[in-house]
Amino acid sequence: MSKEKSKAELLKEQLFMEKKHAALIMSEAEIAACDDFCESYKDFLDRSKTEREAAKTAITLAKEEGFREYTAGMPLKAGDKIYYCNRGKAVILAVIGTEPAEKGVHLAAAHIDSPRLDLKQNPLYEDNDIALFKTHYYGGIKKYQWTAMPLALHGVAVKKDGTKVELCIGEDENDPVFFVSDLLPHLAQEQVKRTLAEGIKGEELNVVVGSRPFRDDDVSEKVKLNILAVLNEKYGLTEADFLSAEFEMVPAFKAKDVGFDRSLIGSYGHDDRVCAYTALEAILGCDKVNKTAVVCLTDKEETGSDGNTGLCSAYLKNFLHDLADSFGVKGRTLISNTECLSADVNAAFDPTFPDVVEKRNAAFLNKGVVVTKFTGARGKSGTSDASAEFVGRVRALMENNNIVWQTGELGKVDLGGGGTVAAYLANLDMDVIDVGVPVLAMHAPYEIVAKTDVYMTYKAFCAFLNE
Ligand code: MN
Ligand code: MN
Repeated sequence: MSKEKSKAELLKEQLFMEKKHAALIMSEAEIAACDDFCESYKDFLDRSKTEREAAKTAITLAKEEGFREYTAGMPLKAGDKIYYCNRGKAVILAVIGTEPAEKGVHLAAAHIDSPRLDLKQNPLYEDNDIALFKTHYYGGIKKYQWTAMPLALHGVAVKKDGTKVELCIGEDENDPVFFVSDLLPHLAQEQVKRTLAEGIKGEELNVVVGSRPFRDDDVSEKVKLNILAVLNEKYGLTEADFLSAEFEMVPAFKAKDVGFDRSLIGSYGHDDRVCAYTALEAILGCDKVNKTAVVCLTDKEETGSDGNTGLCSAYLKNFLHDLADSFGVKGRTLISNTECLSADVNAAFDPTFPDVVEKRNAAFLNKGVVVTKFTGARGKSGTSDASAEFVGRVRALMENNNIVWQTGELGKVDLGGGGTVAAYLANLDMDVIDVGVPVLAMHAPYEIVAKTDVYMTYKAFCAFLNE
């Protein structure tokens, strides 16, 4: 017979919080559902390596579920499923609820842009029989991480006559890939003395794109000419078309299970497609909702949310106003009664680098969806800091729906920092809190998430949007 628990043990059980590994809380059936869900997530990742591709995939999936394109003024009724695409780079989806619009909506917002290497406007040059592209990196990267690995080229060029040429090279098994070179260690005696930040400099992120000359002795820059000849023959491009293009170099890897136990997923772009996909799947599964459910998949978060497809622009606010108009309600009323889960990843505790976080308040892999009350840096600068009331609301939501969840903070007080779109949404006058998936090696070309956390984040969005 087991020993009876002491008074102190019982009291401790009653009063202490316990953080358990999600896999010890979930049933076997739920773990199987979780692993299944992550198979489709990996597929989404491989199909959606840029903001444009993620927007396109989201719209394709939404149309399959009966969502139709929304234009302002369109009559709406409960049960309607609509989407709005902002310039091909951001998407808003909504399922109209039965509750009156003045009660606000349930909004989840995630971003679909990820750090990468953008091509400059005049990218192509030749140097000693090697053709290269100049790049300007996008978002916060550790530049040295982007060398010596296969890269794929994704993006679009707009020709003078307005026609678009879309490229995606490096993803098919038979495609060529591209490459940023790094120095061999033997000749890096000076380079290794640079700081890690300077190990590879911005202007050294040059992508090798070819090395075979055009067979004609009369011209100079024969390798560059040969590259342009290939691009012209295959895609109808000329050098001037790069001026009006958005080409992005991204890691050519596919999303894969990581670990003997396959408990983790390695991929480019988990930040923030892991929150985008979980929020998207949650709204795609919405049928009849009480409160109108809205999911916003935005662009430009990694460069500060400015620009017409970023959340500092008015596009989401305008959409919510249009929605309110459709029901004869003031936009400001709808917005100020709106509750929002700002969906973004948080840093997962890394056993190799324990010193950067304060363990009692850090997020851990497999401990569930992370709820982050505040972001910001050194004195919460730049945060929207969710109210105790709203955190209490979200806490109840998690616990009433058996969602494994944890709280998180982005690093030690004097060390950490970072922001999400939460503050810009809160500035519109709605209740906002950050939720999302903990990530190892965030912003690296290959990031890691735990499958249970992905699934718990999906469950959190389902519970919130269907409440
Ligand atoms: Mn993010
Ligand atoms: Mn990020």
